[in-house]
Amino acid sequence: MSEQGNEEFRNRHSTINKEGKRNWIYALQPKGKFYQYRTWLSYFYLLLFVSLPFIKINGNPSFLFNFPEGEFIFFGSLFTPQDFVIFGIGMLIAILFVIIFTLIYGRFFCGWICPQTIFMEMVFRKLEYLIEGDGNKQKLNNSKDWTTDLYIRKFIKHIIFLILSFIISNIFLSYIIGIEGLIKIVKEPISDHIVGFIAILFFTMLFYAVYAFVREIVCTVVCPYGRLQGVLLDKNTIIVAYNYLRGEPRNKKKLIEKSGDCIDCGMCVNVCPTNIDIRNGTQLECINCTACIDACNMMMNKVGGEPDLITFASENNIASGKKFEFTYRIKSYTVVLGILLVLLSILILTRTTFDATILRVPGQTIQENNDGTISNLYRIKVTNKSNQTLAYHIVASDPTIKIERIGLPLDSLKGRQLAEETFFIKVKPSDVHQRKIKYEIKLMSGEKIIDTKQAIFISEF
Ligand code: SF4
Ligand code: SF4
Repeated sequence: MSEQGNEEFRNRHSTINKEGKRNWIYALQPKGKFYQYRTWLSYFYLLLFVSLPFIKINGNPSFLFNFPEGEFIFFGSLFTPQDFVIFGIGMLIAILFVIIFTLIYGRFFCGWICPQTIFMEMVFRKLEYLIEGDGNKQKLNNSKDWTTDLYIRKFIKHIIFLILSFIISNIFLSYIIGIEGLIKIVKEPISDHIVGFIAILFFTMLFYAVYAFVREIVCTVVCPYGRLQGVLLDKNTIIVAYNYLRGEPRNKKKLIEKSGDCIDCGMCVNVCPTNIDIRNGTQLECINCTACIDACNMMMNKVGGEPDLITFASENNIASGKKFEFTYRIKSYTVVLGILLVLLSILILTRTTFDATILRVPGQTIQENNDGTISNLYRIKVTNKSNQTLAYHIVASDPTIKIERIGLPLDSLKGRQLAEETFFIKVKPSDVHQRKIKYEIKLMSGEKIIDTKQAIFISEF
């Protein structure tokens, strides 16, 4: 709720000043329980981020997002482009999940889970406080002529930021090419891994630019999730909200009779990493980091006021004092999400180890053989989606037909291997009663049937 209906703040971005220049934010370090929780969570996330590339499941990395080669590993299970149906449904579920989650909990993800916020607020900004002092000190120092001491501090800070960005870039890359791929780049000559080396340099400079200069602009301008907020939130969404009924009219020195609880100290704005005044109501720039809740609680504690003048609540909660309710919209989305989750589970559970396509070799017609049979020529492309070498052969379900594999037949497939071979299906003409017949081919690993595929046989019938 903006003061006296002044909506001027909506005309300008919080990180741009009236002259159109960058408004550098010197956010103060919050102190309070939420900041403490976020600090502990950040330790957990950072540990997870660093250790996950080293954790293997069934010999596979626990997670891998190898976009260049189209290989993805989730919880140790390999997914390739052949799993596009699972991917499609997975993406759909992810999008719906984001919508429902945001609808209920607002931008909780941004403030508490997003790696950008974790690194910015819990790593880089904390280092900045350590080297250059708190926000007020930084602002004061930067407004004066720089002293030698400040030059040295800034130099040290940027060197540390660069080193950290380099480390993050390496770990980030290990999620794409695997930890073994990264170790190769590190150990072997640069000339053997030019692309990998350029990727490390690129991501290092990107992370450095983001954490040293771009900062909150990633959340307020670049991130599409932040832009979506305007259409995803409704009046029942849980957000970081200012209780204007309790806080207004603001009263710095408690001079006004019947004044509200807000003492207009400005601490909620001073700690805000996106430089907004939450008392103006929900804004796109708010990342739900809760720094303003901590700051306001601290001030309330100092002046003997009740805590939670700024708190987690929906707009309707604030206006009416009612509790959070599941709206019809949330319920419908949740039902759709449930159905998709069941579908995804079925797809994952029935996912086969071999993925194959069988096609007649183009340009080949029906052949008449010396043994009196007729035949069609086929090519099978088969992928072993597991990480282990598996025995492999094919058999026909119909005993009246014969499969004759050409050349050296495949008898095993290495983990993640895509292989192909050609084979004839031979049939006695007396067994052919129609022009097009579908024969079932079993893909076997030892005695186990992994999958069955169909081969279309064309005759002159
Ligand atoms: S308004 Fe509060 S919750 Fe939102 S970004 Fe600023 S400090 Fe964080
Ligand atoms: S920190 Fe609390 S008391 Fe101070 S200005 Fe913000 S809302 Fe008002």
